[in-house]
Amino acid sequence: MLVVKLGGSVVTVKDQPMTAHHENIEQLAEEIKAAWPSPIVIVHGGGSFGHPVAEKFGLADGFTSERQVIGFSRTHQAMVALNTIIVDTLHDKGAPALSVSPSSFITTDDGRISKADFEIVGRLVVRGFLPILYGDAVLDRTKGFSILSGDQLAVHLATSLGASKLIFGVDVDGVHTSNPKLVPQAKLIQHLSLEKLKGFVKIGSALTSDVTGGMLGKVSEAKAAVEAGVEVQIVNATKPGVILKALIGEPVAGTILAR
Ligand code: ADP
Repeated sequence: MLVVKLGGSVVTVKDQPMTAHHENIEQLAEEIKAAWPSPIVIVHGGGSFGHPVAEKFGLADGFTSERQVIGFSRTHQAMVALNTIIVDTLHDKGAPALSVSPSSFITTDDGRISKADFEIVGRLVVRGFLPILYGDAVLDRTKGFSILSGDQLAVHLATSLGASKLIFGVDVDGVHTSNPKLVPQAKLIQHLSLEKLKGFVKIGSALTSDVTGGMLGKVSEAKAAVEAGVEVQIVNATKPGVILKALIGEPVAGTILAR
């Protein structure tokens, strides 16, 4: 079983509200279909769909006011809209994609997944479906509401389903010595051991000089998957052919996180 997390930076145009990156989605659907029928579960991020709405209503801080209820619904619906574009594109390519809504079967406790029946997802895969999940607004035991990131969800799915590999598709070639978008001479780190990862997460941005923002969150979440024996690969999903190669196990530029 393979779990693929497609970043919000890949499937949406991040600086344009509610704008899907149709070209990337088309390309990725083509590649996922080409790897079919290996057992695959897809998770996608929110990018310019979920995040602005969740932020507007302060959902990540938990339930603080009744006006957030509509904000929760709208955040979820924004994600459903993006999910529909991705699922429809996969259907057009002939893949049996099936939308699975995280808020309807997952709850968190202080932001961390506490209750979820992932067996359903596993059974869907066995039945021949291609489940497509996403980061979502969810109910939280302590805070009332919370935002479940696609990164956390992908790691839990991979460990619960005993996936052999978890692939993060992002808009850079992998983990670099600094943010490659800000520092052009940043170097790709091809291999990160668990030992290095632990230091990474503890000291945050300091280890290799600078790993911040989305990438730091991803690497911190990914640590649990590596500890559970899942190989994690971070690759550039905006470059044609890369996700297909990662799916079929061909060598590709990127960062491998492993024990
Ligand atoms: P997504 O939304 O696609 O899941 P994020 O935007 O959250 O991904 O995280 C990926 C981003 O992390 C990259 O676009 C890059 O700008 C940023 N980043 C920060 N530090 C690093 C680093 N050291 N190596 C690679 N990317 C980094």
